[in-house]
Amino acid sequence: MFTATSQTAGGEKRGQNTVPVTISEHAREQWAARMQTDISLKTAWEQSVAVEAPEADSTAARLYPPCNALLVVKHATVTTVLHNDGRLNTPGLIECPACDDLVDPVDDDTCPWCGEDCTEPTRPGCVTLTRGGI
Ligand SMILES: [Zn+2]
Repeated sequence: MFTATSQTAGGEKRGQNTVPVTISEHAREQWAARMQTDISLKTAWEQSVAVEAPEADSTAARLYPPCNALLVVKHATVTTVLHNDGRLNTPGLIECPACDDLVDPVDDDTCPWCGEDCTEPTRPGCVTLTRGGI
């Protein structure tokens, strides 16, 4: 099927998401075992949003909100898939006012999960995360 070195994903995203990654066999198995979904891990990766997971042993992490799946990346390889336990930092992400899933407003004008317009800053009920350090 797939070899460990020929499978890359995520090349369509801008900014910090442009680095292609390898998806490990372990991550693929964890995805299949833990996530009740028909989509592939590669597709989930391409649709996921970048988050920070300081509790995870990782160099980067992405969240796939429909499955609440945390994709753990170590040295450009997706090493495993976890259920998001909430211990994440989500700088730059906003919560969709319609479905509450996380959206990257730089990458997406509308919510990729439900199609809601997430760009209108004055929209009632739109949650804005506090930016900047303390
Ligand atoms: Zn939404």
